[in-house]
Amino acid sequence: MNVWRRLTGPRRALALAGAGALVAGGLVTIPGTAAQAATQCDIAYTSNDWQGGFTANITIKNVGDPLNGWTLGWTFPNSSQRVQQGWSATYTQSGSQVTARSMSYNGTLATGASTSIGFNGAWSGSNPKPTSFTLNGVACNGGTTPPTTSPPTDPPTDPPTDPPTDPPTDPPTTPPPGTKVDNPYVGVRGYVNPEWKAKADAEAGGSRVSNNPTAVWLDRIAAINGTPNSSSNGAFGVKEHLDEALRQGAGYIQFVIYNLPGRDCSALASNGELGPDELPKYKAQYIDPIAAIQSQSKYSSLRIINIIEIDSLPNLVTNTSGQPGGTVMCDTVKANGAYVNGVGYALAKLGAIGNVYNYIDSGHHGWLGWDSNFNPSAEILKTAAVASGSTVNNVHGFITNTANYSALQEPYFKVTDNVNGQTVRQSKWVDWNYYVDELSFAQAFRTKLVSLGFNSNIGMLIDTSRNGWGGSARPTGPGATTSVDTYVNGGRIDRRAHLGNWCNQAGAGLGERPRANPATGIDAYVWVKPPGESDGSSSEIPNNEGKGFDRMCDPTYGGNARNGNNPSGALGNAPISGAWFSAQFQELMRNAYPAL
Ligand code: BGC
Repeated sequence: MNVWRRLTGPRRALALAGAGALVAGGLVTIPGTAAQAATQCDIAYTSNDWQGGFTANITIKNVGDPLNGWTLGWTFPNSSQRVQQGWSATYTQSGSQVTARSMSYNGTLATGASTSIGFNGAWSGSNPKPTSFTLNGVACNGGTTPPTTSPPTDPPTDPPTDPPTDPPTDPPTTPPPGTKVDNPYVGVRGYVNPEWKAKADAEAGGSRVSNNPTAVWLDRIAAINGTPNSSSNGAFGVKEHLDEALRQGAGYIQFVIYNLPGRDCSALASNGELGPDELPKYKAQYIDPIAAIQSQSKYSSLRIINIIEIDSLPNLVTNTSGQPGGTVMCDTVKANGAYVNGVGYALAKLGAIGNVYNYIDSGHHGWLGWDSNFNPSAEILKTAAVASGSTVNNVHGFITNTANYSALQEPYFKVTDNVNGQTVRQSKWVDWNYYVDELSFAQAFRTKLVSLGFNSNIGMLIDTSRNGWGGSARPTGPGATTSVDTYVNGGRIDRRAHLGNWCNQAGAGLGERPRANPATGIDAYVWVKPPGESDGSSSEIPNNEGKGFDRMCDPTYGGNARNGNNPSGALGNAPISGAWFSAQFQELMRNAYPAL
């Protein structure tokens, strides 16, 4: 991986952690008695808890007038409690307040009818059940009746089922085979890769996060059948992962298609196995066999999500020779069409499968946030989307920040802020970028892509696996208004020395846990880079996996033109890319934001 930017410019189970890890579940029912309101409701809230996580099921019984659309609201008693991934409703959370909005198929509730919804959540400290609910703004306990705790006085007519053995259902949104849903992350739970989970569980405290869905990287041809002897992946191949996803009752599974000819053309840490002229081999021995497995009918109930070729296309825009740090390899794969035609072929072949969803990698704000990179990158994504017989219909969306560290949102400064009459864009950190964080960039890039002819319902993903930037070094307010630099540097949560730093960044934390529909235009926050897997070795380590040594992973390196000659900011003692890096995983957990 290498993600950098041009120099200057005014420019989740939920494989539950085993039955033994389950702690007391419970049930709270709230009889609804809002005397003067037509809306009356009984709510049954149950949860299965384990250290750091839980699955909640909520049964809503309408004991008032018939409802056509409903919104359930509650406040979590503990500020750490978070909805991560829900089903059968659209969830939003602001602080501790949660709203769950009905779907098209369960909004109509006759008098006496019930419906069940649920979600996977996270907690730290304690996980108390919410004690009061509102339905369409009307308190289900009339706002005064104290909650009745177990045993329930008014059991739901339709008791919730045990989630680990009965996955969330969403039949009304599952279209006939061959029709893709708008957002494949909605209403279903994600596949937990047992190989990553085992590594995370082996770490002290790792079980707090090991039930999150992470992507499966197909980083070489051999990974299709499993690579028990590689540093990064394990014995499972595509088939074993898909079979395990069915066994888990997962609704979606994520693969990373990552093996282009001349891969990682501008860096050394993830150079792949294929030379720049091996496009035919890429097609015949990599994409075709993956498509052959993903298209098997026994997997047709799964939403198979492919993340297409990290870093590739933007490298053709920003890292060809003549540009600071440009490489001959990027020139070569640009000139011979290996990236554009390889991506087009992957899109066409995989996109033809009815339950497969392609999301193309599209860099991050600290790389493409200048118009001079933003526009040509969008254009080359379009060129690739219609190459090799593909059409834009094979593209479901795009992903930003894959395996990078760019902050989701900078809470303490905006790109429009001025200090002493100077725009923050002029600060050293922002350096004339038009975006200061990933969310704003991803939303704007989506708009640009639609304007170029991509479908108007494309959705963006943001890799939040390592962009949390919590911990003791996280600022708690804006920086001093002495200058644009004091203001930005004092307030920014992204603590890197430079936005171009991309390898094993010291100080980083786990970011938002994977969840669907987190913001306008965003299909999901996802964990594509599995936290704990190295970006590259900090010194040369001989290996037979094609992994080179990039000095951007060396903590003693003083940088180059591409990171403004800043220190690399990388952690020391790192293994080769993809290999487990325990110290980094521990730091990511310590600095998680939201905290674990
Ligand atoms: C490595 C892959 C690895 C992936 C996920 C990449 O940088 O080159 O081998 O599977 O990261 O950790």
